Amino acid sequence: MRANVDYDLVVVGSGPAGATAARVAARGGLSVLLVDKKQELGAPIQCSGAVSANALKEVGVRPEGEFVLDAVHGFVTYDADGTEEILDYRRHRDEPLGYVVDRRRFDRHLAGLAEQAGAELWLKTEATGHTPRPDGTTEVHLTRLGRPVSVTAHVVVGADGVQSQVGRWAGIQTRIKLKELASCFQFVVEGVETRGLLEIVTGERWAPGGYAWLFPKGHGHAEVGLGVARTMTEQDARWHLERFMTDSFLADRLKGARIVEVQGGGVPLAAPLKRQAADHIVLIGDAARHVNPITGGGIHTALRAGTIAGTFLADFLAGDLPPTAEHLEGCHQQWLAELGTTMWKLYDLKTGIFRERDPARRDALLHATMTGYFRPDSEYRKV
Ligand SMILES: Cc1cc2nc3c(=O)[nH]c(=O)nc-3n(C[C@H](O)[C@H](O)[C@H](O)COP(=O)(O)OP(=O)(O)OC[C@H]3O[C@@H](n4cnc5c(N)ncnc54)[C@H](O)[C@@H]3O)c2cc1C
Repeated sequence: MRANVDYDLVVVGSGPAGATAARVAARGGLSVLLVDKKQELGAPIQCSGAVSANALKEVGVRPEGEFVLDAVHGFVTYDADGTEEILDYRRHRDEPLGYVVDRRRFDRHLAGLAEQAGAELWLKTEATGHTPRPDGTTEVHLTRLGRPVSVTAHVVVGADGVQSQVGRWAGIQTRIKLKELASCFQFVVEGVETRGLLEIVTGERWAPGGYAWLFPKGHGHAEVGLGVARTMTEQDARWHLERFMTDSFLADRLKGARIVEVQGGGVPLAAPLKRQAADHIVLIGDAARHVNPITGGGIHTALRAGTIAGTFLADFLAGDLPPTAEHLEGCHQQWLAELGTTMWKLYDLKTGIFRERDPARRDALLHATMTGYFRPDSEYRKV
């Protein structure tokens, strides 16, 4: 028999991972408190918002006009000189392959679905720590609208993003090495034509350790951005982006660009954490490095990790086992079985590319890997 608590679960962070975990756990019968330190979910936007139709379908989220900005029908990959390979799925399917979503509206929509499932949402509420109690529960310390509050729970889900603190509360090594953090910068622009495809440019000349992109964003807008590994360049991502826009083979298409928004952020291109659970704690999404190390995409993997954690915890807390690291490790094992083993494979693939010493060969390998990744017959299509 479990001790009484205010909530079975406190989910820290209402991004795609946390909101999905909260929704699935609440639907599974748990009482769930979902907290986010932001006063407006998803803002400021630090994401291009590209997500596959398959990712939404898997987690039962319909592509509503409320958050979809544009439909995506395939990819164009370019090498550093501009040689392009087009993978246009309009030849194979009528439905869009994916979407570009507005992260503010998308995150709000996901939180709304969690609330509809029964979770309680507290905005402008920062989780600052937890204190395990002798009765086997834990007290979660929050600052809500500037005032300290504590609630008791059985488990805390750390879905608190790339700079996760929840893992650190439990001594999990979440600090990310500089060489494994892609520093990203992007402009939302008007006046640039797009073609319903995600356009991706590889080559260290433009984006050392990463790639550049041009995505459709609906209503005459586009996103042009890039990510770089800061250990592979003296310059920051903004410098590389400006040079890409003026000097690359896309310069003609980009010369009329009028910048309407500036966005940036870090993407962990690191290995998934080897420890993703501690006593009373489970980590998911960016917090656990559930990011595709080849594409830097983390929405799909966050949604999947949220579903896995929500399902696991609803099942786990229906039983009598104490929420110790040893028992909560089952969530990590489930993640490995469904997704993690493939993520590790992608990480090894990426590491192999960047171990190559010859820059031209590195460029060729990255380009071939990206292009292969997006092909209809890719073994990684579901990640
Ligand atoms: C420039 C850029 C472009 C990107 N483009 C894409 C893309 O096109 N497609 C794609 O799939 N991925 C993309 N990504 C990656 C993607 O944004 C992330 O992988 C994804 O948002 C991870 O989801 P998450 O739920 O784990 O974390 P997040 O979305 O980061 O959510 C974490 C939440 O936790 C909250 N939080 C943090 N600490 C606390 C605390 N102590 N208490 C309460 N709340 C807290 C934060 O406010 C935040 O709302 C991009 C990233 C960047 C930087």
